[in-house]
Amino acid sequence: MINVLMFGPPGSGKGTQSVTLAEKYNLLHLSTGDMLRAELAAGTELGKKMEAIMASGELVPDDVVIDMIAHKIDATTGKAGFVFDGFPRTVEQAEALQKMLEEREMKIDLMLVLEVNDTELMERMKKRALVSGRADDADEAVINNRIAVYSAKTEPVIDYGRKAGVSRSVDGVGSIDEIFDRLCRHIETVI
Ligand code: ADP
Repeated sequence: MINVLMFGPPGSGKGTQSVTLAEKYNLLHLSTGDMLRAELAAGTELGKKMEAIMASGELVPDDVVIDMIAHKIDATTGKAGFVFDGFPRTVEQAEALQKMLEEREMKIDLMLVLEVNDTELMERMKKRALVSGRADDADEAVINNRIAVYSAKTEPVIDYGRKAGVSRSVDGVGSIDEIFDRLCRHIETVI
């Protein structure tokens, strides 16, 4: 089993790349953002509780996403591993994931960090706002807050990965295919 963590600020392309990487290597794509938006769309109690937090660009509580991920891992069969997209986003989530994987005789094999400069990020987010229909994409203040939350809470997870020797920095500017090839080259070193 291989477990790949996709990292990068909002708009860095981790969602797009995660989908194709998961297909190519027979991995399950686990996006906590998608899972939370599915709860919202289905109008569940959990979705209703999380809606305001997500609309402001803040993070939902760690235990909410940790439970979601654990359930998905345990319900999965027939896959060669997982691509985690948007999780872990805090050091506490990273520690919980590591423990969860160890208990299931797996580990974090690779953390791919997409590097994209802020100017390019803002341009991409503005374009995405026109098509995504996401409340948190529509407002520039919310986008700025998401980038600030990424720096404060998620960047420390990259240090966590660096210390564990699994983090790899990847240039996230270029065509989707070029970036995909760069990511694949790193994955090939762990399979
Ligand atoms: P993006 O990376 O474009 O900001 P996501 O779809 O990954 O978007 O996340 C959207 C929102 O969902 C986040 O701003 C946050 O409110 C919530 N969320 C997603 N994943 C997590 C997580 N691992 N921990 C806490 N909140 C999360």
